[in-house]
Amino acid sequence: MSLKEVYSVLLKNKKESIDLLFEFLKIPSIAAQNLGEKASINFLERIFGEAGFDCSIFETNGFAVFTAELNTGSDKTITFYDHYDVQPVNIELWESPPFEPTIRNGKIFARGVADNKGEIICRLQAIKAYGEVFGKIPVNIKFILEGEEEIGSLNLGYFVENNKEFALGTDLCIWEFGGKDTEGIQNIYLGVKGCLYLQLKTDTIGRDVHSGYTQFVDNGAFELAWALAALKNRNDKILVPGFYDNILDPTEEELLIIDNFNLKEEELKKIFGIDKIRLGLSGVELKRKFFLDPTINICGLWSGYQGPGSKTIVPHEAFAKVDCRLVPGQNAKDLVEKIRKFWDDNGFSHIEITEWDGYEAVKTLPTNPVAQAVIRTVLEVSGHDPVVWPLAGGSGPMCLFPGVPCISIGTSHSQSNAHAPNENIYVDDWIEGMKTVATLIHK
Ligand SMILES: [Zn+2]
Repeated sequence: MSLKEVYSVLLKNKKESIDLLFEFLKIPSIAAQNLGEKASINFLERIFGEAGFDCSIFETNGFAVFTAELNTGSDKTITFYDHYDVQPVNIELWESPPFEPTIRNGKIFARGVADNKGEIICRLQAIKAYGEVFGKIPVNIKFILEGEEEIGSLNLGYFVENNKEFALGTDLCIWEFGGKDTEGIQNIYLGVKGCLYLQLKTDTIGRDVHSGYTQFVDNGAFELAWALAALKNRNDKILVPGFYDNILDPTEEELLIIDNFNLKEEELKKIFGIDKIRLGLSGVELKRKFFLDPTINICGLWSGYQGPGSKTIVPHEAFAKVDCRLVPGQNAKDLVEKIRKFWDDNGFSHIEITEWDGYEAVKTLPTNPVAQAVIRTVLEVSGHDPVVWPLAGGSGPMCLFPGVPCISIGTSHSQSNAHAPNENIYVDDWIEGMKTVATLIHK
C-alpha cells in the first residue's frame, strides 16, 4: 500500500471521475437566478452517500447547505469548504454551451468547472481512491458545501452559528479556490483580506437649483466629493483617525514571505496596460503595501445631470459606493463607526451611510504545522516550490470559521476564466489536484 498505488487508482478512475464531474456541471445551479438547488442537493446526496459519507442538509432562507462527514475515529479532522452554486452566464459569449461540458485541447469547458464544482469532485475522488488502496482514511473528513457563495454566502453564518461543533471542530479547512500561475506553479493562499462595503448618499436641500444661485445652496456633488476626498490623501494614506489601529503586525516569517514574494510586476503592468505602478512603487515597498495595508476605494460615484448636452443646475443629491479591503486585526463595524465620527467631526454629518456590510480578514501563519503540511504536500506532488500568499488579494467568508486554519489550494490556472465565458480547467491539473488531496490526508 502506497501513495503511488493511490495515484494509479486515480488514473484508472479518470473516466468515472470525468463522468461524475460532467453530470454535476450539467446542473445549472445559479443562486442569483434561484436555479438548481434541489437538483444539486440530490446529486451531492447520491455521490457522497455512495462514497460512505453521512450526509445532511441544512435548510436556510435561501439555498441549503449540504454537509458530509466521514468519521474514521481519528483524532484529526480535515474539512473541505466548497460551493455548488455558480455564476450566471452570457450564453452568446461561450464557444460551447456552458452547461454542456466538453473537453477541448486537454481542457474541460463548462460553467462552474473552475469555480467550484471541479474541486468538489476532485476532493471526493481523491478520498475514494485513498480508501480503495488503504482501506481506511487516516483522518476524519468533513465537507461543507454551500449554495450561495456567488451571491455573498448569505446564510453561511447562520449555518455555522447553528452547527458550531461541526463547522469549527476541525484541524484544517481546505478552502475552495486556487491553482497554477502563468508559469505553471501552484499557488497556496494562507488567508483572505476582509472587505467593508459602504453605500453613501447625501441630499442637501431636497431639490435641484438653477446654477445662477450657486452661491446660495450647498452642492450635493461637491459635498460628497469633499467628504470622500477627506478619507485619504493622494499618497494613499488613510486620514480617518484610528483606521490603522489594531492591525496585526506581520511575524518575521510572514515578512520574509512577503519580501521574497514573486510579485510579477511586469506581467501586471501588461495586464493593466500601464507603464508604471501607481505612486511609482515597486519591489519590497509595493509588496508590503499590497499585503499589509488596508485600502479605501471608490467603486461608483454619481450625481446631477448626466444626459446629453448641458443642464446648468446645482444638484442636491449625490451617491457613492465605497469598498475597503481590510487586513488582519481590523473590524468592519469599528471602521464604519470611525468613518462616521470622522465625517461628523469635520462637517460632513449630512453624508448618510445608507447601508454597509463587511467581514474581517483571516490568516494562518506560515509556521502553523498544518500550513507547513500543505506547503510540503504541494511541493512533493507538483515538484515545485509553491508560491505562498500570506493573504489573497480578494476576500471571502473565512472569518465565519474563527480559530480554524483555512488554506486555499485548487486546480484552476491563470486562464481559467472563473465568472467569465469559457470557464475551464486542465484535466491534468485536476488529476494532480486529486493526488495533492490524497497526499495531504496521508500526511
Ligand atoms: Zn466565484
